Amino acid sequence: MWTKKFPSDLLKKVAGKGWFGAVIPQRYGGMNAGVTGVAIVAEELSRVGSALGEAYSVSMFGGVEQLLAFGTDDQKEKWLPRIARGEVVGAVCITEPSVGSDAAAIETTATKEHDYFLLDGKKRFITNAGLADIYVVYAKTSEKPEDKSKYQHLTAFLLEKGTAGFSLEKINELGGWLSLPNGFLDFNKVKIPADNMIGKEGEGWKVMMAGLNFERTVYSSGMLGPIRESIRYATAYAQRRVQFGRPTIDIPTNQFKIADMLSGLYTARLLVYHAARLLDEHKDAMVEAATAKLFTSDAYEKLISDAIQVMGGDGWTRFYPVESYLRDAKVNQIGAGTNDIMKLVIFRGGLKAMSKDLKMPHRQIHEKLGVPTSATKPLPKLEPNESNVLKALAEDYQVNPGLFMNREDLKERLKNPDDKRLDHLLVALEEKGLIRLYRDSHGTIALGKAMYKGLREAGPLENYKWYPDWLSKEFIF
Ligand SMILES: Cc1cc2nc3c(=O)[nH]c(=O)nc-3n(C[C@H](O)[C@H](O)[C@H](O)COP(=O)(O)OP(=O)(O)OC[C@H]3O[C@@H](n4cnc5c(N)ncnc54)[C@H](O)[C@@H]3O)c2cc1C
Repeated sequence: MWTKKFPSDLLKKVAGKGWFGAVIPQRYGGMNAGVTGVAIVAEELSRVGSALGEAYSVSMFGGVEQLLAFGTDDQKEKWLPRIARGEVVGAVCITEPSVGSDAAAIETTATKEHDYFLLDGKKRFITNAGLADIYVVYAKTSEKPEDKSKYQHLTAFLLEKGTAGFSLEKINELGGWLSLPNGFLDFNKVKIPADNMIGKEGEGWKVMMAGLNFERTVYSSGMLGPIRESIRYATAYAQRRVQFGRPTIDIPTNQFKIADMLSGLYTARLLVYHAARLLDEHKDAMVEAATAKLFTSDAYEKLISDAIQVMGGDGWTRFYPVESYLRDAKVNQIGAGTNDIMKLVIFRGGLKAMSKDLKMPHRQIHEKLGVPTSATKPLPKLEPNESNVLKALAEDYQVNPGLFMNREDLKERLKNPDDKRLDHLLVALEEKGLIRLYRDSHGTIALGKAMYKGLREAGPLENYKWYPDWLSKEFIF
């Protein structure tokens, strides 16, 4: 807090406990405790301080995870036992001066020459810069547009500190994570043996994406420690602070804040350890890891602010550690992919995972009530021709008057639907001004809706009329 010095002595103690080997299999000298084991260590270390906790976490996703998933046997033999013993600390290098959220746009290049690559470029915001002994660096190995379009233009490398041409350019003075080195790295024609490639040439994006679920989970577990500490400080403080003749913990608004903090902690822990468990079971955890990171970092920021509020002015002094957690909290909404990016991941991945549950229910006009209801059985299939497509769209107007039908809705209504035939019918109806179509950015017909002319052509106005019983007959015309 007061002396900005990285706690190297504490990191050595962590190494001595073997905790750097938490996720490493026993045959490489590790503890084989899985992602859950790493998360437990990261949570507990982060209670001691962000520098220690983050240095540990970043080391886990700066080499260990990539080597376990993509390393060759030789690479694993060479590095994993050393990492497990805590002899080498890692860093992960994605971000560059002009490259942040758009990680696929990496500009650092690795040019192949014989059995080595020449690495040229810069990275910035690299946690453990200078402290780390090994750096997982992502670089561009192809300029071909077809490789870029398939995300096969990047390659991952393991670069050792001390390699000629590789240097520490600058250290960032951060608002939070005090005394944890974070900075710029420069690569000036750095010669990396091809043996140091992690995965194959062109697989960098795959390596990066595979590692992010692990990274987001472990990163989130490191937020749980300060959350617990802030609850401890706020509660202990309020139990001892007397205002209006009673301890401030007896004031309901303080109790509510502490209750919010506790529920934030419990929910975050469930999310983090659920994602860790999925990873340990080798299941897809993309949405769960992103959700853990999004929820935990947002809860963290809100929760620390509440903890400071419970402590009043004292909470905002640097004589208690809680104000420093607030600055640490902000970083967590940015690192490992910003929270906006987490929402993109959750939106895309979550919708894909739930796609079966998200189908529009069949709807039809109820036989007796005459009102739109969910259909109890599938509607009979129609022959695919112009008048039946128009009929389907007009029926949809009766039950979803404000909506378009999408391709899937229409195909479900037709016998043996064929995309080409459907397009042909839809375009023909559009040309006659009977329906309106919406085409996506690739020009594919995505949605269709009957227009007024089409509705009239599909049936008389009586088909669309409906009035509640209570409406006076004299109102109807
Ligand atoms: C303390 C710290 C430690 C870090 N450690 C590392 C590290 O060890 N290794 C490493 O490689 N990187 C590291 N980073 C970098 C971090 O991953 C990036 O800062 C982060 O990915 C965002 O990139 P950016 O800062 O360039 O923001 P930008 O990408 O420029 O984004 C700026 C804003 O625009 C929003 N935005 C951007 N694109 C979109 C979009 N498509 N949709 C919606 N919103 C969008 C962002 O959410 C953000 O709010 C670290 C950063 C910090 C601050």
